[in-house]
Amino acid sequence: MIPGPIEFEPEVLQALGAPTTSHVAPDFIEAFGRALETMRTVWRSPGGQPFVVAGSGTFAMELAVANLIEPGDRALVLSTGVFGDRFEDLLGRHGADVTVIRAPLGRPVDLQSVEDELASGDVKLLTVTHVDTSTAVRVPIREVGALARRHGALCVVDGVCSVAGEEIEQDDWGLDVVLTASQKAVGVPPGLALVMAGRRAMEAFAARRAPVRSYYADWAKWLPIMTAYESRKPSYFGTPAVNLVAALDVSLRRIAEEGMPARWTRHARLGAAFRAGIEALGLGFVAEDPASRANTLTACRYPAGVGAVDFLPAVKAAGVIVAGGLHPQIKTEYFRVGHMGSVSLGDVLTTLGAIESAMSKTNAAHEPGAGVAAAVAHWTGTAA
Ligand code: PMP
Repeated sequence: MIPGPIEFEPEVLQALGAPTTSHVAPDFIEAFGRALETMRTVWRSPGGQPFVVAGSGTFAMELAVANLIEPGDRALVLSTGVFGDRFEDLLGRHGADVTVIRAPLGRPVDLQSVEDELASGDVKLLTVTHVDTSTAVRVPIREVGALARRHGALCVVDGVCSVAGEEIEQDDWGLDVVLTASQKAVGVPPGLALVMAGRRAMEAFAARRAPVRSYYADWAKWLPIMTAYESRKPSYFGTPAVNLVAALDVSLRRIAEEGMPARWTRHARLGAAFRAGIEALGLGFVAEDPASRANTLTACRYPAGVGAVDFLPAVKAAGVIVAGGLHPQIKTEYFRVGHMGSVSLGDVLTTLGAIESAMSKTNAAHEPGAGVAAAVAHWTGTAA
């Protein structure tokens, strides 16, 4: 139950373990082409240009930045944690003049300050982390996207901890780039950077004056490859991660079959049931405002007087693995639980039971059974 890599479906792992074919074998061309098409369904971006390139989520971030930023361009980073901060470093490396709006820990960014900053000058691109995995704070990207559009800035969304879990309507919300990695709610082992670039982003790329400085990240190299696979033609620039792409095809089709609104609702109900359980056990959240608590993971405070060294092994002894803290300011004060992808109510209840068991072992005050009971009550209360 860590926030990525998540647990993967057997049929996804089967595709991963199948004999590796040539990257120009007809079956592989079909699988790659279909995966690109299905990305449009999952991202809700019929007009977008998908890119699937071997790399982790950080490389997906770099694909967006390397292709859209030229030295001297102004960029605005909205940071709600470690992964927002990563964009500052990344944009700087690519020569951007970077301004950061750093939200107070546990809070989303203040939209008025975003508006003020956008109004103050010529911001070419803003980045926003939909769900920062270090704080579990969710930012209202629809509103951020609208602000960016109003001021003519490109909106790049880091959806590594949200795509295929949290509601995203890329085209309707005017989001220019939405990126993720394979190992989270998309449900494929680590190794693929997944990027959907909208029309304005592709136009900004086409209007570049300087060539992209990164050879491997250059969309000029990858665009013909993606276009070829989608029209079911063989193509080559760098050997694709054949088995991962085959697994991606399987997982995306499962996601599309569930249907995006149904999938978002399942995540919302499971996230809310889990949070109800955590609250009933008397534990606090890093994300202060209930409306900004993510549905894909929860960042929970340790019980008073109990630390990671005692608590995490006790949860593990009960059969569940959760993640420790990540944000350097509060690393030792909280733990993180992922509940995305193919999670069920059973997984959530088992996790709450394991957390309660750790509370008992570490003598943390709590009402026995309260966590599981609250989660079940929440789940049945929201039953469709
Ligand atoms: N953004 C977010 C929100 C993430 O959670 C992560 C990784 N957990 C990344 C970016 C970076 O992804 P990766 O570790 O795959 O490089």
